[in-house]
Amino acid sequence: MQGEVDPTWTRVRYDLPVERVARITLARAEAANAQDYLMLSELNEALDVAARDDTVRVIVLAADGKHFSSGHDLRDRTDIGDLPTVGVQCHFDADGAEGYMAREAEMYVNLCWRWRNIAKPTIASVQGKVIAGGLMLVWPMDLIVCADDATFSDPVVAFGVNGHEYFVHPYELGGRLAKDMLFTGRAISAEEAERHGMVSRVVPRAELEAETLALAAHIAKRPMFGLTLAKQSVNNSLDAMGMYTALQSAFGLHHVGHSHNRLVHGSLVDPDGIDVIRSEA
Ligand code: ZN
Repeated sequence: MQGEVDPTWTRVRYDLPVERVARITLARAEAANAQDYLMLSELNEALDVAARDDTVRVIVLAADGKHFSSGHDLRDRTDIGDLPTVGVQCHFDADGAEGYMAREAEMYVNLCWRWRNIAKPTIASVQGKVIAGGLMLVWPMDLIVCADDATFSDPVVAFGVNGHEYFVHPYELGGRLAKDMLFTGRAISAEEAERHGMVSRVVPRAELEAETLALAAHIAKRPMFGLTLAKQSVNNSLDAMGMYTALQSAFGLHHVGHSHNRLVHGSLVDPDGIDVIRSEA
């Protein structure tokens, strides 16, 4: 079955750059690929197209521009009701914690977990800055090829929450570095990320696209079902280490943080956080 690419997508592009490989590219370079709900929804649809295309064995997620993603678009006012929902959440407009928790569960946690479990290998191809919610597009991918200029940070503890919503930091970095990254808000370099096993390959910026596609083509020579079984086996092993339960636990604490901020500051995040982050940028 062939997938259907939607010509109305504005936040992502879709192509088939080499045999058996689909590539989805974040196409909002003018905003450093900040993620609004529309981008996440289109990305989800594009991943479905690649997943359903029987000629595709490996999916690459790349990004236009200098930076892979600056995180969530905090100016986004998209009504989630205008988008096709993909998960099982509801009550998005409810008062109090209920509606906002449902929106974040749907658009962040559930989408990331869904992408993490696509039955085909996925490769993130990363350059420049990856900040907070940007990690939520990188970490659900199976392999990460990054340029030597890539940096990774999650500074949102300054906003009075534990970290971004797809809280798998200890699985990606190990407990010690996860705490370091979260407590300090500092950016981890490509070299440090590789040393801790968070990225698969570091390559010169000029070779990022070629190296990513070469790796994808190499993997795509293997039979689809073998790749699927290998992926599922590793994912099951991570789940046996409690990954999903830990993610849900952290998401609950994340919303304790949001609710606390609402009570104390009248907003979802501590407003002083932006000055802390800007002073250290
Ligand atoms: Zn949040």
